[in-house]
Amino acid sequence: MQLRFRRFDLQLRHHWAIATDLDRGGGKSLCPVVFVELTDRHGRTGIGEASPSSQYHESHGTVAAFLGRIDPARLDFDDVAGSMAHLESISPGSPPARCAVNLALLDGAATAAGVPVCEFLGLGPFAEGRHVSSFTLGLDTPEAMARKAAEAAPYPLLKLKLGGPTDRENLAAVRRAAPGKTIRVDANAAWHDREEALRNIEWLAADPLVEFVEQPMPPDRPTADWAWLKARSPLPLFGDELYQGPEDAARCAECVHGINVKLVKTGGITRGKLALEAARAQGLRTMIGCMIESSVLISAGAHLAALADHLDLDGSVLVTNDPYAGVRNEGGMLRFAGVEPLVGLRVKPRDSAS
Ligand SMILES: [Mg+2]
Repeated sequence: MQLRFRRFDLQLRHHWAIATDLDRGGGKSLCPVVFVELTDRHGRTGIGEASPSSQYHESHGTVAAFLGRIDPARLDFDDVAGSMAHLESISPGSPPARCAVNLALLDGAATAAGVPVCEFLGLGPFAEGRHVSSFTLGLDTPEAMARKAAEAAPYPLLKLKLGGPTDRENLAAVRRAAPGKTIRVDANAAWHDREEALRNIEWLAADPLVEFVEQPMPPDRPTADWAWLKARSPLPLFGDELYQGPEDAARCAECVHGINVKLVKTGGITRGKLALEAARAQGLRTMIGCMIESSVLISAGAHLAALADHLDLDGSVLVTNDPYAGVRNEGGMLRFAGVEPLVGLRVKPRDSAS
């Protein structure tokens, strides 16, 4: 197997910030990702992507270092499990790098089997017309938030990043621009303790169209504090930073009502599927989310949509230079209909004619 990788800087449509950026210089306009391409001796190929997040102490450098330690001879489209076992043996690990290789392996394996990844995984065909993603508004000034909300007019579901100094003004500004829209809130661990979190959630619950609140407190708050908050919260709570993989499902069932699975946290589709199934087995609601990502990772997430109650797969529509085409986002509705190729991850370079 030949393994190639390259860094690519995704350009954000708007300057991007979330609560955890506020004490680190305040956000970014470029997001470096790493694309991985595998080619085997039969000429079969697979594409994958890593979107490393500084929130998890990952960068394109940690991803490149991990990829450089892989023995490509140990990777095989006909043995995805054995290939992943090789990746698990490499230390230190890098979930985003493992994710990129896992996507490329499954892209190649499903293509070889002549089916899309969702069918290769036993999830059946992608259900057209059923899967709507939210559209995220990053932290900004109230004026900018209102402008972004107006620009997001085609999208029926908004996800609002909170946890900044002007939360109340921001929600009011978004409400004026989008009075009838359902809003999901993501505080990215900004509220320090259970009392502060509850006060903010009670304020949000006064808006009847706020649907749920993601990650109100830091994940390292004691489980007892989370359980206290869950018992009192007037809105459903979702864990994102709280949920890294299937091993966290039992604790999350005590802490929150649902979880957010991202492929760069779980190390790819294989463990992402396990993470969604483990959460459902605990009675948790499931969401598939994303980082700032191209259509490679967004399409990969969409292949697991049958296992999700909610989708937040908008990374590729937040950027202006996505080098790949894959699942389409039409006013939030995710569609594979008409997308070529019909097999594998169903992504191809944008400049490709075939
Ligand atoms: Mg989140």
